[in-house]
Amino acid sequence: MSQSTEAAPAATFIAALRERFEGAELGPEQHGRFPVNDVMIAHWCDAMDDRNPVYTDAELAARSVHGGIVAPPAMLQAWIMNGLAPRPQDKVAEIKAALAEAGFTSVVATNCEQEYFRYLRPGDRVVARGVVESISDEKRTGLGDGHFVTTRTTLYDQNGEKVGTHMFRVICFRPRAKAAAPATPPAASAAKPAEEKSAEPPPAAGYPFMRPAVSEDTEFFWEGTAREEVLIQRCTACQTLRHPPLPMCPSCQSLEWDTVRAAGAGTLHSYVVMHHPLPKGVTEPYIVALADLDEGVRLLANLDGVAAGEVTIGMPLTVGFVKVDDDLTVPRFHPAKE
Ligand code: ZN
Repeated sequence: MSQSTEAAPAATFIAALRERFEGAELGPEQHGRFPVNDVMIAHWCDAMDDRNPVYTDAELAARSVHGGIVAPPAMLQAWIMNGLAPRPQDKVAEIKAALAEAGFTSVVATNCEQEYFRYLRPGDRVVARGVVESISDEKRTGLGDGHFVTTRTTLYDQNGEKVGTHMFRVICFRPRAKAAAPATPPAASAAKPAEEKSAEPPPAAGYPFMRPAVSEDTEFFWEGTAREEVLIQRCTACQTLRHPPLPMCPSCQSLEWDTVRAAGAGTLHSYVVMHHPLPKGVTEPYIVALADLDEGVRLLANLDGVAAGEVTIGMPLTVGFVKVDDDLTVPRFHPAKE
């Protein structure tokens, strides 16, 4: 309906988008992949470190006001997640595409609110129906100017009774000139084939480096790596170092900070060898290392220069850098040379 390539005024464009999408159903009804069950509940409680025994201890739960195990309310959305299968195309994808055409190419989730009407119990079967609630006017934010897109999904049980709602909001924004990288999740960065081909311009699609999502809190770090420096945040109130970057000191809650440059030496704390799934364009397993830097913080980066079978916890490492392209340089560990 709306052709954003036309030079239509922004207000007309967004009015047309609202006319088309606000109030529309998100997509087909979602059916819980599994009934509510105690195994998923136990795993979720482990992951969230929730020790409330009414979720996991059948005997104790039976003597509680619930009369048996119940699911943590905050687990609501887990019951309608469909694993690693591709999500069916929904209206939000269409809205994102329309906004991207108009220049709002980056997407970040901003907030989520849930309401709970009753506890779910093992055996319950959940069905969800969602609507597009609103598309905001253009707003100025720290990330860039953009539109908030809000959806609301209502979950029902097998009797058609409402059990909860899930509001989810994203902002589709025009990235600031500096943060021109596509917004993809932060991730282990890399692969040997890219390094070997570093003289060639990176292909537009399928490039093996997953780009970090640079935010106001993290941009100093990536500006540092561009100069081949690893910068560690330091609280100027209590001098505590911290990494990954955070706006507030976890020790004294001060918001004031500066940075110190890491010397680039550390020891291997832990690692994984990524075999599957490999990022597109990557053909060989690679090592992602978590190292204790000598300064006392931990840094995550790929580890090169050693075969997976030769890696040992505690091995000394040095930090090097790989220039991906003009906008991105990433740290890379290598075994320290004796
Ligand atoms: Zn502090």
